[in-house]
Amino acid sequence: HAKSVGNGTLTVFRPEMDAQYIAEQKLRTDLRHAVEHGGLHIVYQPMYKPDGSSIECCEALVRWRHPERGMVGPNIFIPMAEDMGIVSAISRFVIEQACRDCAAWPEPLAVSVNLSIQDLRNSDILAFVADVLERNGLSPKRLHLEVTESVFMDEPVSVSAILNQFRATGVTVAIDDFGTGFSSLSYLDTLPLDIVKIDRAFIRNVAEDERKRKLLRGIVNLSRDLGLRIVVEGVETQEQLSLINARGFADLVQGYVFSMPVAPEEIDELLNGSLRGGKRSRLTSRNKT
Ligand code: C2E
Ligand code: MG
Ligand code: MG
Ligand code: MG
Repeated sequence: HAKSVGNGTLTVFRPEMDAQYIAEQKLRTDLRHAVEHGGLHIVYQPMYKPDGSSIECCEALVRWRHPERGMVGPNIFIPMAEDMGIVSAISRFVIEQACRDCAAWPEPLAVSVNLSIQDLRNSDILAFVADVLERNGLSPKRLHLEVTESVFMDEPVSVSAILNQFRATGVTVAIDDFGTGFSSLSYLDTLPLDIVKIDRAFIRNVAEDERKRKLLRGIVNLSRDLGLRIVVEGVETQEQLSLINARGFADLVQGYVFSMPVAPEEIDELLNGSLRGGKRSRLTSRNKT
């Protein structure tokens, strides 16, 4: 059945469009239910010293195991939650859980949590985090917050003010996926940051691609000059790791070469492993999350 629209174009109604719409609405309803009824959980991906000798921080990554669909990735349901206006409920769950877990880890191991722009639109987040830290007896030094470049496009002044208040309390602020947004390097100088997490797009092919190495070196040099610490994300191969190490490109390395994201219980095992001087993490946990 075809329907005429204004300028004479025809829009064809297709039943499968309807089915897709209904499926998406159901996924939204299911997500709301999961958020409200404990249907989410978190996994952790460790950040290692580049030589693999110790874990310095673990990034909390949220997971949703859908009753019928199985695992739904955060790249799907976080944007959905943002659109529904419920992402802050997810953030609060993750902050709460991550701080509780971190408090049980040996000092000075830190935990890192991803924030969305919606979390930073309201300064209530400051009091919330302070309360969670206090209740768990966790030093603010052991909490990192990750934001993407896009949050600074939104309301740069208020976002910067909130992040600066976090930093004033001792919380560490990291810019995530650096280099993938409409980033300007000059930003790095003005934003309230402690850590730059360089996106894995810069690591892919770095061993083969001379231009990638130059880009990476440029970002690293500038970040260092500005006194920022550098986390390199998405390091998958020993070759990439060797190259990063040979050039001193990273303060911390996060990626499959050391460990996939793993269940909280497995972090304890990895910590025991690293205390014994081993890094018996790599690839042992594939598919478990
Ligand atoms: P991100 O914060 O940049 O997290 C890193 C992502 O890269 C994770 O995907 C991780 O599993 C993946 N990764 C880590 N090492 C490697 C590697 O060596 N190779 C490759 N190919 N990938 C690697 P994940 O868990 O699917 O998360 C995707 C994104 O979803 C995250 O990117 C983050 O932006 C968002 N996200 C995850 N958890 C949360 C959360 O609790 N809150 C918010 N707001 N966003 C979250
Ligand atoms: Mg992140
Ligand atoms: Mg990232
Ligand atoms: Mg990301």
